[in-house]
Amino acid sequence: MTDIAGNLERVRAAVERAAEKAGRNPRSVALMAVSKTYPADDVATAIGAGQILFGENRVQEAQKKFPALRAAHPNLQVHLIGPLQTNKAVDAVSTFDAIHSLDRPKLMQALCDAMAKTGRRPNCFLQVNTGREPQKAGAMPDDVDSFVVHARENYKLPIVGLMCIPPVDQDPAPHFALLAQLAKKNNLPGLSMGMSHDYEIAIAHGATHVRVGSAIFGARS
Ligand SMILES: *Cc1c(COP(=O)(O)O)cnc(C)c1O
Repeated sequence: MTDIAGNLERVRAAVERAAEKAGRNPRSVALMAVSKTYPADDVATAIGAGQILFGENRVQEAQKKFPALRAAHPNLQVHLIGPLQTNKAVDAVSTFDAIHSLDRPKLMQALCDAMAKTGRRPNCFLQVNTGREPQKAGAMPDDVDSFVVHARENYKLPIVGLMCIPPVDQDPAPHFALLAQLAKKNNLPGLSMGMSHDYEIAIAHGATHVRVGSAIFGARS
């Protein structure tokens, strides 16, 4: 059995060390426990160990997993980190406290409509395809400035930061550096970057949200 509490303790300590090494306040880094594919019982174990921020990549999975947990723990925060279809925008703004996968103008429109309809306004991160990979979602780096203006001015979306998933076969550091540079240029305080294998590098580059799954919950089958 995976020692979720022990893993959390180790990851928290590593987050703290990485922040201090970078001359940052450890509290400026939010540790998101990515619970996709893991059962609600594992989430409950993490909550018991003091974790309140979780990440899920599918709307439906989160809709099934979290209502009971939220009822028992009203301070839980659940963020969407996976691709979002426009027809799920209402469900997404109703289910999540933040959306890290805003990646295209059509979704801006859908989220704007969904927020007006529900009265809920979860914070949004613009996903950036820092590696310019054809199969990957996200705004191309050259489009980030205009996408941010579009999201803010035309759709009044609460854009708080940028998010990236670097190419798996590359050194993530230049991707994190690029994301940090683009965020700074656009006056965005949030940087959602870093996963189980590279969150310490992401923190060195200014990550405010690290998304850690397998290092906490064990390998996904
Ligand atoms: C699954 C996932 C993670 C967590 O990945 P691990 O390698 O298990 O830490 C982080 N971000 C996104 C977007 C994911 O889909």
